[in-house]
Amino acid sequence: MIETIGIIGAGQMGNGIAHVAALSGFNVTIIDVNAEQLDKALPAIEQNLNRQVGKNTITKDDKAAALTRIACGKGIDNISACDLVIEAAAENEALKKEIFGTLKGVLKPDAILCTNTSSISVTRLAASTDRPGKFMGMHFMNPVPRMELVELVRGIATDVDTYETIREVTLRMGKTPAMAEDFPAFIVNRILLPMINEAIYALYEGVGTVEAIDTAMKLGAHHPMGPLELADFIGLDTCHAVMQVLYEGLADSKYRPCPLLAKYVEAGWLGRKTGKGFYDYAGETPIPTR
Ligand code: NAD
Repeated sequence: MIETIGIIGAGQMGNGIAHVAALSGFNVTIIDVNAEQLDKALPAIEQNLNRQVGKNTITKDDKAAALTRIACGKGIDNISACDLVIEAAAENEALKKEIFGTLKGVLKPDAILCTNTSSISVTRLAASTDRPGKFMGMHFMNPVPRMELVELVRGIATDVDTYETIREVTLRMGKTPAMAEDFPAFIVNRILLPMINEAIYALYEGVGTVEAIDTAMKLGAHHPMGPLELADFIGLDTCHAVMQVLYEGLADSKYRPCPLLAKYVEAGWLGRKTGKGFYDYAGETPIPTR
């Protein structure tokens, strides 16, 4: 029975998962190596809960109760007693493996460990943990409070019990699970990220401006967000990392990350989270950066 959830990484995904888990009655502890990120976690979650109160999707009491269920801390000792730990640190295989290495012998023997990776092999990550049978992918969508889906990805060693327990946790969080096999980027990002990468190529080759490309896809394909706006929302570092995993994992040149995407990442223009990407978010209205 899962009652307590530890979350590694107080970024947009870690905070979103904590938000939804706490609203669903789980006790949650978020950890992050970056104290500044950790300080911003609860205020960010509170702001998002306020938005839901404003839309009458939750009550003020729901919000207050959820906030009392969330704790924050820096080191892994804060999550050592959790029944489930969900890793939501940056999309970097070496970093994730390093984190799983530090968790060895720290978590309860029967605790389940999940990764929120967008693209990296669950089987490969599992091999760097002390519990491949109790490890799997639990891939939430961004923004977590609004998106209904969680992709569930089993590694080759994942136990049936682990899968069943995580499926129940997903349902208890009010989400709909979809099972994906352990192939690079699973289902959603296998399809979504090449579309975003193609939009960046269209910009790179001068087919259209940022504004024209986003307007074209919003009004011409009825996408709720343009692909460049969406890339900024996901984070350009994450987009680039996912394309790199597709390119290397499937060894097909059609997945080559656009050089312009690489350039934005090198510049530290990572999208909304850094205030600048394909748009500049300094003012009230986002302004295209090219
Ligand atoms: P983010 O950059 O907003 O946050 C990452 C956080 O991890 C940062 O706060 C960072 O300080 C922290 N971190 C780094 N090293 C750490 C360590 N050793 N221990 C603890 N914390 C550490 O990134 P994000 O967008 O929240 O993405 C996190 C994960 O979720 C990635 O694997 C990403 O692929 C996946 N994901 C992202 C999206 C999306 O749309 N952004 C959607 C689904 C899944």
